[in-house]
Amino acid sequence: MIYNFSAGPAVLPKQVLQQAADEMLDWHGSGMSVMEMSHRGREFTSIIDTARDDLRTLLNIPENYRILFMQGGALAENALIPMNLAARRTGGDLSRATVDYVNTGSWSTKSIKEAQRYCKVNVAASSESQKFAEVPPRASWRLSPDAAYVHVCTNETIDGVEYQFVPEVAAETGGAPLVADMSSHILSRVIDVSRYGVIYGGAQKNIGPAGLTIVIVREDLLGHAAACCPTAFNWKIVADNDSMYNTPPTYAIYIAGLVFKWIKAQGGVAALEQRNIEKAKLLYDYLDSSDFYDTRIAVASRSRMNVPFFLRDEANNAAFLAGAAEAGLLQLKGHKSVGGMRASIYNAMPLEGVQALIAYMKAFASNH
Ligand SMILES: *Cc1c(COP(=O)(O)O)cnc(C)c1O
Repeated sequence: MIYNFSAGPAVLPKQVLQQAADEMLDWHGSGMSVMEMSHRGREFTSIIDTARDDLRTLLNIPENYRILFMQGGALAENALIPMNLAARRTGGDLSRATVDYVNTGSWSTKSIKEAQRYCKVNVAASSESQKFAEVPPRASWRLSPDAAYVHVCTNETIDGVEYQFVPEVAAETGGAPLVADMSSHILSRVIDVSRYGVIYGGAQKNIGPAGLTIVIVREDLLGHAAACCPTAFNWKIVADNDSMYNTPPTYAIYIAGLVFKWIKAQGGVAALEQRNIEKAKLLYDYLDSSDFYDTRIAVASRSRMNVPFFLRDEANNAAFLAGAAEAGLLQLKGHKSVGGMRASIYNAMPLEGVQALIAYMKAFASNH
């Protein structure tokens, strides 16, 4: 049995891959692979419409939010967010606009750097001096009264830090919307979409193949793009064209649609959240009980999706990884900026995978 702990692109449900294989040459008797279909044809239109409707149902997305299927990943959105949203309160002038960011790790650091190219960035809070071991408590944030939006990364994939609360930001900012990078935990837990203005993420962690970017945006936040925003990345234009202004990543949307069906069959997001809680608890409980391994994230900010951990004696790292691969436990090496190990336990990782990892960790500890 193989268990793949990759942080992304990451494990997909076996049933989804099997169905995609079965339908590879001939989708539903159409005589075509999904890859070969016109994006404007009847067949693909039904695929994208069903995917959109299923995502809306799964996340209980209110009617006044639009779902956009885009490209470029979360990093492209890091530029497209200021371009689409920052000039909202400065009459289209991007360079005078102020935006607020909370720095909780590698990905928010990247978001901040990108936004700085376009507008004035206020870092409202940062846990950098604590080596990103926690989400800064909301009471410590210093928001701007004229912020066009407040940006957060609600799950830091590299650092292993996850928001376990939804920050209220509107009161101090005169109604600024909350913008959240949810790349690595979207669909892993129930969220109240109405608390956010924009939710975005690359698909390749918890949804499907790389190449698809999901943007969920409240309707009143469309139509504020600065003049420099590329037409194909202008959210209003993408929304007005139902994500078909230009050719969308059709095959990736098809696979995402199969994953949405799979989540529904599992009992929906609430059912997966319960499993994710159970999986994460199992692993953290073992790490906390062990003298051999160590995890450094504050308990209240621990990610249920990405669990970085360390061997107390780092001289054992190479042997740990080699033995893990032999046992069928793949891609456990930590990100180079953090070191150590990282187990990504997304929706598609079964409980048995976490149990197998812990069994291996116990055996390795007793042998060393
Ligand atoms: C992976 C990841 C990104 C980068 O996404 P790309 O699709 O590679 O642009 C950004 N933010 C978070 C939280 C991620 O996990």
